[in-house]
Amino acid sequence: MNSLIKMKYPLLAIAILLSHIPAWAEGEPKLAFFEEQAVPGGIAIVDLSVPDTVESIEVKLGNKTIAALPQDGTWHAIVGIALTTEPGTHTLKVNAGRSASTVNFEVKGFKYEEQRIVIKDKRKVNPAPLDMERINKENKRIREVKAYRYKKMLSTGFQLPLEGILTSPFGLRRFFNDQPRRPHGGIDIAAKTGTPIYAPSTGLVVDTGDYFFNGNTIFLEHGLGLQTFYAHMSKIHVKPGDKVEAGDLIGEVGATGRVTGPHLHWSVGLNGTWVDPWLLIQD
Ligand SMILES: [Zn+2]
Repeated sequence: MNSLIKMKYPLLAIAILLSHIPAWAEGEPKLAFFEEQAVPGGIAIVDLSVPDTVESIEVKLGNKTIAALPQDGTWHAIVGIALTTEPGTHTLKVNAGRSASTVNFEVKGFKYEEQRIVIKDKRKVNPAPLDMERINKENKRIREVKAYRYKKMLSTGFQLPLEGILTSPFGLRRFFNDQPRRPHGGIDIAAKTGTPIYAPSTGLVVDTGDYFFNGNTIFLEHGLGLQTFYAHMSKIHVKPGDKVEAGDLIGEVGATGRVTGPHLHWSVGLNGTWVDPWLLIQD
């Protein structure tokens, strides 16, 4: 893998590449595939009371752009709520045509479980200075990728990307060798190395790479900042700029990066924050 070379390409190049993809048949995007759960790590669906005859709308939470779709005659915001969000009232800024307004929504509290993991490779818990240089570069790259958004919703619903055993749920408050780390921003699905991983929905490949913690990684954009992220793979079968449909082979399960065994770490991002993937899976 020439992933280190690939890392040097500016994200702008990918954005230009993606913007040259011709229009394709798109399903009718619906709000219905987002299950609302207005808690940290969940999704809030907020009726903005702006008629859907208004052609375009801009919604912000702080400095983050929030996805919006029309339903039942009005625009609705689809807000990814960060795991670090405090319960209580939060405010969206809405720009619709020439009128600006604010709309409040409530976030309820939720307590996620705790997990303690022992990692044998101590360097993966307390990285060496040389590793930190690489990690900082990778984090910058990840921030750029997470900020990318395609202007239209491409997805009409999600399916699980593979069959396996759920070993670690979303939101776990984790400790590596007794040291507190960020809560788990995705779900872990254990399966044998080489198990195929499929695109869960229509999307664009924004980035692929070999990351210190995440190993072989893919980022997909499904439109309006709805993204999925795949880590620890043994093989990657797509490249930046590819368009994928639900069911397309994108990679294979592996044990690359910081792992205790072969599994897929799968995350769903919305407005640059990780949300519980189960809120998007169709029953
Ligand atoms: Zn994980």
